[in-house]
Amino acid sequence: MNYHEMREEDIEQTLSTNYEQGLSLDEVKKRRNQFGFNQLEEAEKQSAILLFFSQFKDFMVLVLLAATLISGILGEYLDAIAIIAIVLVNGFLGFFQERKAEKSLQALKELSAPQVTVLRDGQWVKIPSKEIVVGDIIRFASGDRIGADVRLIQSNNLEVEESALTGESVPVAKKTNPLSGVSMSLGDLENMAFMGTMVTRGNGIGAVTAIGMKTAMGQIADMLQKAEVMITPLQRRLEQLGKILITVALVLTALVVGVGVIQGHDIYTMFLAGVSLAVAAIPEGLPAIVTVALSLGVQRMIKKKAIVRKLPAVETLGCASVICSDKTGTLTQNKMTVTDLWSGGKTWTVSGTGYEPKGHFFYREDKVLPNKDKALQQLLTFGMLCNHAELKTKGEEFVIDGDPTEGALLVAGIKAGLHRESLLQQFSIEKEFPFDSSRKMMSIIVSDQNGKRFAVTKGAPDVVLGRATSVLWGDKLQHKSQEVHANVEKAIGELASNALRNIAIAYKPLDRSSSSHTMTETEIEKDLVFIGLQGMIDPPRPEVKEAVRECGSAGIKTVMITGDHVITAKAIAKQLGILRTHDKVLQGHELNNMDVEELEEVVENVSVFARVSPAHKLKIVKALQNRGHIVAMTGDGVNDAPAIKTADIGVAMGVTGTDVAKESSSLVLLDDNFATIKAAIQEGRNIYENIRKFIRYLLASNVGEILVMLFAMILALPLPLVPIQILWVNLVTDGLPAMALGLDKPEEDVMKRKPRHPKEGVFSRGLGWKVVSRGFLIGIATLLAFIFAYKAHPNHLAYAQTVAFATLVMAQLIHVFDCRSEKSVFARNPFGNMYLVWAVLSSLVLMLLVIYLPSLQPIFHTVSIEWKDWLLILGFSSVPTFLLAGSFFARKKQ
Ligand code: ATP
Repeated sequence: MNYHEMREEDIEQTLSTNYEQGLSLDEVKKRRNQFGFNQLEEAEKQSAILLFFSQFKDFMVLVLLAATLISGILGEYLDAIAIIAIVLVNGFLGFFQERKAEKSLQALKELSAPQVTVLRDGQWVKIPSKEIVVGDIIRFASGDRIGADVRLIQSNNLEVEESALTGESVPVAKKTNPLSGVSMSLGDLENMAFMGTMVTRGNGIGAVTAIGMKTAMGQIADMLQKAEVMITPLQRRLEQLGKILITVALVLTALVVGVGVIQGHDIYTMFLAGVSLAVAAIPEGLPAIVTVALSLGVQRMIKKKAIVRKLPAVETLGCASVICSDKTGTLTQNKMTVTDLWSGGKTWTVSGTGYEPKGHFFYREDKVLPNKDKALQQLLTFGMLCNHAELKTKGEEFVIDGDPTEGALLVAGIKAGLHRESLLQQFSIEKEFPFDSSRKMMSIIVSDQNGKRFAVTKGAPDVVLGRATSVLWGDKLQHKSQEVHANVEKAIGELASNALRNIAIAYKPLDRSSSSHTMTETEIEKDLVFIGLQGMIDPPRPEVKEAVRECGSAGIKTVMITGDHVITAKAIAKQLGILRTHDKVLQGHELNNMDVEELEEVVENVSVFARVSPAHKLKIVKALQNRGHIVAMTGDGVNDAPAIKTADIGVAMGVTGTDVAKESSSLVLLDDNFATIKAAIQEGRNIYENIRKFIRYLLASNVGEILVMLFAMILALPLPLVPIQILWVNLVTDGLPAMALGLDKPEEDVMKRKPRHPKEGVFSRGLGWKVVSRGFLIGIATLLAFIFAYKAHPNHLAYAQTVAFATLVMAQLIHVFDCRSEKSVFARNPFGNMYLVWAVLSSLVLMLLVIYLPSLQPIFHTVSIEWKDWLLILGFSSVPTFLLAGSFFARKKQ
């Protein structure tokens, strides 16, 4: 018999599981050993050896290898061996860089792997979905991705979108009763839910019937294996730039070689010089270093609790000009405590902090017993019944498992001496209509021991009041006249103006005979009796005010978007510095009457959107984008997904966020904290600046190398650098300092600048000029050092070449410190980046080895130079950096 045909009891037996307790950990272990992990087999990864060889596929490396061959054929064995050694070293560097990038991206993937809630040893726990075994009982709610194939045993309005499997994008309503019919298609199996499909509504519980490759998804897994390779806009631009540089480099190289041959240099030397120059001029290391810088930046973000799911977002982060943030949990702590209760014109207060269930009730400063007042007692009882939260302890602390808003209602009830378990013995819950942010309500149908039935609704006060026809006033029911309506509204406003988040409680008597199965939420949530309000504090997160201020000075506007009441929203936005004097507040109902164009007109001045539904978020994102903003938008529910996807940076909550929200996002906040978005933006800006730093360094070095050769050829001088020296400088000594620049800390004013324009070119903000001017000076300085040394040792070309080699290396190693700042080499402490200091020192040692180690001298055509020459070298090599630094001081003085 198939699972969909079985009755619930039979499934429990067949799967040898227990609906109350779930599986025991021992049993889980046994089943795991037998059937393995719940994962789809992955496509084979590129092996390390293949990755290593792929380093040599590059066009320029192939040219180099051809040059080696020619050197070999011509009997220049030393040259040939040296070139091969350099190519190998370079290949290893590239290999390790790529491996590192790959590993960190893999780690990232694991971090963002989906989790499931499973019943083990009688406790609901969250585990990675990889660890599910057959027979596990799992629970899911709106927004979750289902982790394995399950037979449903409970369904509360459960709807699942199965397009990943069936192609059908309309969600399917799920039930639990057995189905007859053996050969049914997946789409018809209403009492089963499948791995990889999404819960769009309601909640449910299922028993796992298949995992991994045995699931329906596993059968078609091959189709899903195509891994997406993500490339950032900057990487794409660099690729294009690379092509231009190749052309320029080849033209210049041809020029050098041509002029050289005309000036009488021998063809073999000029050929090798040409190849070396071409290799030098083309920054083939650049894409690899960019990837490493990006992936290291991504790792730094993880430490700050932000997970980048899509690499291009790292760049976009630096351009963000507006952050639209949810209020509850992101700007506030989401630790709710009921402090005020209102019913029928009376307001009570409750003492106590956090979720600790200790506190007293007061009416006008006098301690009261809540069970003495019927309305208050009902308010608390129903708040506890229409509730899923559980109070738990974690060490010394009380914590809530479930929705914090419901947690607050639960704790208020416990403070009044109520117990959920005993309430559940008195009342049985027949049906539930789960909360959703668009309806802003949750309802249950309840029957008591005498068979009396009624519905309880809790939700946003203005919404619940709108559905009520009468109001409980003391012991009596009053018709909701205009006056009564106004009185309740006034009470809502008063609680909200103290920044309290309010929940209204209402009920509705039902017929004994009515069947709860056929009743819909629209029928239930009307003609209600309004009982009262519970107002709870949700303190702002302490770090948010400062983060909002910092964003402000970084040219980034913070906008609060909340489902909460407008007065509550305003009060908190003011506390956090989000709502300033001239800012406007818009409400959901006002948004309904506006189209995107109309919203565009006013959106710049709005800093709070209150009582909005998730659907409004999309409108807000679009209006802001039409105004030219780069928008970061937060969200957590299924309905937030379209806005998250449309935003330039979709941000999902790691703790409260649903799988759907996370999968649509490009950034996940592990701590749901607004301040983390700010930190990620700061890191995003920094990564981009670091990339600019090493582009500047590598390109200026390349310009210098080409120019020194070109000028020498034009002036009919001998070659100032031997080909192998050019290769060495370019492929070996440059690499480590460039990597270290990628690890640099941000400049102090990185969050004081305006956001970068997304279309800004790589060479904007003076970078192009810096590359050319510094490169030019490095070339000239090296050439002059060469000429001086050659004049001093006219018959000893190798001596002058060694001096030129040392000058070039030194000029670059000094220049690298200049690249750390957009302003000047003096703007930053040179020891602020110790990676760079060590990288420069090791490049220095490498240079000294090449110059002074007798065994290396014949390979690199170097000779030991005297200490006096170092004065010349240091003098010339400092000029390019320090000459232009003078202009910084000149500007500073003004
Ligand atoms: P934000 O959008 O900033 O997260 P929010 O949590 O107030 O704010 P929603 O979750 O959409 O937004 O809630 C909207 C309103 O619905 C709340 O102000 C509250 O009055 C009510 N509400 C919230 N949670 C529940 C719940 N579990 N049951 C019933 N009503 C709720």
